[in-house]
Amino acid sequence: MKYTEIMVRYGELSTKGKNRKDFIGRLAGNVTKVLREFPQVEIHPRHDRMHIVLNDAPFEEVDQRLKKVFGIQTYSPTIKVEKTLAEIEKTALALMKETFKKGMTFKVNTKRSDHQFLYDTNELNKMVGDYLFSHMDDLKVEMKHPDIVLRIEVRKDAVYISNQLLHGAGGMPVGTGGRAVMMLSGGIDSPVASYLALKRGVDIDMVHFYSPPYTTEKALNKAKELTGILANYAGKINFIAVPFAEIQETIKEKIPEGYLMTVQRRFMLQLADKIRAKRRGLAIFNGESVGQVASQTLESMAAINDVTTTPVIRPVATMDKTEIIKLAEEIGTFDLSIQPFEDCCTIFAPPRPKTKPKIEKAREFENRLDVDGLIERALAGIQVTSIYPNDKFLADKAEEDASLL
Ligand code: ATP
Ligand code: MG
Repeated sequence: MKYTEIMVRYGELSTKGKNRKDFIGRLAGNVTKVLREFPQVEIHPRHDRMHIVLNDAPFEEVDQRLKKVFGIQTYSPTIKVEKTLAEIEKTALALMKETFKKGMTFKVNTKRSDHQFLYDTNELNKMVGDYLFSHMDDLKVEMKHPDIVLRIEVRKDAVYISNQLLHGAGGMPVGTGGRAVMMLSGGIDSPVASYLALKRGVDIDMVHFYSPPYTTEKALNKAKELTGILANYAGKINFIAVPFAEIQETIKEKIPEGYLMTVQRRFMLQLADKIRAKRRGLAIFNGESVGQVASQTLESMAAINDVTTTPVIRPVATMDKTEIIKLAEEIGTFDLSIQPFEDCCTIFAPPRPKTKPKIEKAREFENRLDVDGLIERALAGIQVTSIYPNDKFLADKAEEDASLL
């Protein structure tokens, strides 16, 4: 069956007035962005739901993109038919034949906003139900929890029929939650934290620290490609690469080994905060999880967080690694995250970082450095890239193999 439009039901609307308008407006904008390859599609955002008219765009491909858009609770592909009983019956039967499997139960559920229509909802339920019974075997009606609900909506212009209720991504449309920066490494955790930030409607810019010549182009491209996967949930994400080698070299030379990591992290957070301020963000997100490694004990977090009063939000703070991995697999970042390209933290990681650094000591050691100069030079070297859904930055495996021949 060829679906003609999709009916979208909104998620968690924060009530009324301006918020509702903002929610619907952003959602319509985000849907437009992810469907930009299909210019024929029309998007009609209304107060209670959104209609996406396909105009021959392939439903399966639109569906792939739509199910990643936050702010959508459920949606139903529908078929628009003429307002005659014969058309309704014919389409209802075709739809049922497509989805029905032996043993399934069903019901017909009619709604009517056009009260001039020849039949009322009870009559339609009964007539269409009877028609299906007389044309199909093994059908069973179940009013409470049917496997299939055949929905018929009689509106002024036409009748709309659907038989699937698909689950959307939930959450809030990206942009309704304000702007922030996300500290993205190439690991498993920060991409998951990014997804969770986007799910709450926060529009994030990625901040990534890299350290050429100690880190390879591949490590940088891996972080960019992860951003490409996450852009499926946002439409577009800015990726900000921050050169970090000079800071790491200086720290390595001047800071006692036990505090290398703490001071490095303090620099990262300060830089992220400066970039946030410039871009008018309100918070910093990262992928820290309490107790996972030495830099993520509460003592470490306190010693690092000391450099700013900006809210630092850690979406995966209380999740186990196995839970984080499960989500990483679901959102499609896991396979890329486990590719072994060393990033800047791994290379300058001291063998025995302190798990309980003292704030005063961290400050004292840091004061030995020209903090402002180091930060200024790092900021002068930043590079911003706009990244779109599924943008690729790493040559794919086949290409690589071919180039080795
Ligand atoms: P991840 O899997 O996200 O790398 P992790 O468990 O490996 O996390 P760390 O490497 O200690 O933890 O990093 C903790 C957090 O610090 C990361 O989740 C990320 O938010 C931030 N971070 C670490 N390295 C970088 C980097 N190179 N660029 C930007 N942010 C980083
Ligand atoms: Mg890491």
